[in-house]
Amino acid sequence: MIQSNRIVSTTCPFCGVGCNLELHIKENFIYRVTTPFDGVVNKGNLCVKGRFGYDFIYNPKRITTPMIRKELQEPGKRKQAFDLSEWRQVSWDEALDYTADRLVAIYQRDGYHAMAVYCCAKATNEDNYLLQKMFRSLFRTNNVDHCTRLCHAASVVALQMAVGSSAMSNTAAEVVDNDVFIVTGTNTTENHPIIALQMKAAVKKHGAKMIVVDPRRIELVDYAALWLAEKPGTDVALFSAMAHVILKEKLYNQKFIDERTENFEEFAKSMEKFTPEYAESISGVDRNLIIQAARMYAAAKNAAIYWALGIPEHINGTANALSLINLALLTGHIGRHGTGLNPLRGQNNVQGASDSGAMPWHYPGYMSVTEEENAKKWEQAWNIEPGGLNRQRGLTTTEIMGAIGANGVRALYVMGENPMMSEPNLNHTRHQMEQLEFLVAQDLFLNETTSFADVFLPATSWAEKDGTFTNTDRRVQRVRQAIPPLGQSRPDWQIICDLAKRIEKRLGRPRSAYWDYEHPSEILTEMGSVVKEYAGVKYPRIEKIGLQTPVWDDQHPGTPFLFSESFPRGRGKFHPLVYNPSAEMPDEDYPLILTTGRVLEHWHGGTLTRHSWMDDLYPEALIEINPRDAAHLGVNDRDAVRVSSRRGTIVLRAKVTPKANPGVVFIPFFYGEAAANLLTNDAVDPQAKIPEYKVSAVRVSLARPEELPNPEATQVRGRY
Ligand code: SF4
Repeated sequence: MIQSNRIVSTTCPFCGVGCNLELHIKENFIYRVTTPFDGVVNKGNLCVKGRFGYDFIYNPKRITTPMIRKELQEPGKRKQAFDLSEWRQVSWDEALDYTADRLVAIYQRDGYHAMAVYCCAKATNEDNYLLQKMFRSLFRTNNVDHCTRLCHAASVVALQMAVGSSAMSNTAAEVVDNDVFIVTGTNTTENHPIIALQMKAAVKKHGAKMIVVDPRRIELVDYAALWLAEKPGTDVALFSAMAHVILKEKLYNQKFIDERTENFEEFAKSMEKFTPEYAESISGVDRNLIIQAARMYAAAKNAAIYWALGIPEHINGTANALSLINLALLTGHIGRHGTGLNPLRGQNNVQGASDSGAMPWHYPGYMSVTEEENAKKWEQAWNIEPGGLNRQRGLTTTEIMGAIGANGVRALYVMGENPMMSEPNLNHTRHQMEQLEFLVAQDLFLNETTSFADVFLPATSWAEKDGTFTNTDRRVQRVRQAIPPLGQSRPDWQIICDLAKRIEKRLGRPRSAYWDYEHPSEILTEMGSVVKEYAGVKYPRIEKIGLQTPVWDDQHPGTPFLFSESFPRGRGKFHPLVYNPSAEMPDEDYPLILTTGRVLEHWHGGTLTRHSWMDDLYPEALIEINPRDAAHLGVNDRDAVRVSSRRGTIVLRAKVTPKANPGVVFIPFFYGEAAANLLTNDAVDPQAKIPEYKVSAVRVSLARPEELPNPEATQVRGRY
């Protein structure tokens, strides 16, 4: 029963910090957002998105009625439809029957290879768990993935290889208890603003030393003891040179190495060639700075490393992350409060979506799909005949996109993701999307991806449903329904259950798995019955404060930091490394390095924030370019410029700023009218399959102002 005037506690729907929100409601309208002073994550602070960015809920462009395309879309001729006149509004029954009919027809004709699904890091744990369950249990496919593939996949692979667990090892707020911390590949101020506040407090109030390793002069540099302005893509050389110094000067933790690690000798041998001089020649960072950073990190009582997408989004992403992990194992700065290896997860629930099995190689709980014991456990949990689940690894997001075609993926289900903005080399992505036989979109808006769909299933926003998000430091927190669903929109978990029952019936497998949940709490309990890290996470226990996984049972208090006694794989494993350059280096034709990323005001593919007044704060794409490069090119601030790579061209305005280092330009990736990912390289890390978003060779030249795109032309923006 929803009361008339009230304040509802929930969790922010934007970034992985997971701030606690209070939604103020009058007559079922959210008119204000505040945060409790004693909120466990953010302690009274919110960034601009959490405080003001919720108005997308009421944007009149929101789709709140199920829709089916009027014209049948043929593979190879599929077109986008932003105009509502190209859609027919239908009942939920018709939309779900149509979706089930077409999915089942393709599955029965072409088999599991033809089916694929993008789960969603913005949706709840319960939504993601059910969507992967539907595709695994009914279509017997592991072609299940989500945007973690495009952000931290290499961090996940490296951490699994080295320690056997891929989450942040420590609580973000512990940064105030670091003596020294390394911040690399993360513009924390804009991407995880509340954690950035804690980092600044660590320096200003607690005397910690911050080492920033980043090719851009990000705001945190103002607080740093050292700034190592590396060239993009040179992390292995730089961090291995730090390891070289620690080894040479015997600054390592022999006791920790002896008791907790393996493969030290082989690793140490591989570090011999990484002299500071060698690293300087590759990274452009002064050798003395590398030596100082190594000594500072190794000598600290408590030290930690924080990183984000600047580390994994490379063809060497796994090696980059391993170079950080090697440092922690070498010094023993892991397994204690105030230390750790901390990949800052981007979206609100990217940690939870991964935990919930929205991945092609793992069931929920990172249980490998290729291991018989794991498959048996899930067959039992989902009431599936022995041997029924697929034991082969599925395709990743980029592989799904590449496999679309006559003998490959024919049907794609996209819940809340926007691959037409987030995949690299978007001209190729567009071509592939056009080849689909059937596309289901479950979302709030028509965007670059959902406008391609055959059927649109209108989902509710986070404020209209119950569930849980798991934030970057593994804290499972409540999402609460604050207002009734707008129009006919429905919570994702309910849409999936109703569709799954229809699919079951058509497949002749009635009542195989369970789909009759009355509340999302039952879904999380089902997941926790197999995923031991979630066994003790029950809704009554997280009413006030979330619990940090692992939570082994109903009495377990949760785990603020990991690895105090041992690593999940037993001993932490050192990995020998070699430096390999990025896939595409600058040359005469394309002399600048493009790196991409986020800005404070926008989020993910822009579907939510471009439909919010956040878009008024940062309404157009800008390319950051160093004054020296700008002078060389004859470019002034706000000039229109053309940026080209081997894959595409965009036109946008220049922002001439020393924040960009010479030779490196930066473009945020939220703007369909000047999409940075038209330029990016789709070469991938061989182990993690993550694309190299952070290094593409480009050239920049002056353009005429009339060549600038009209933002209105994207149709994916604007308030009311
Ligand atoms: Fe939301 Fe992240 Fe901002 Fe907190 S820091 S208010 S979680 S966007």
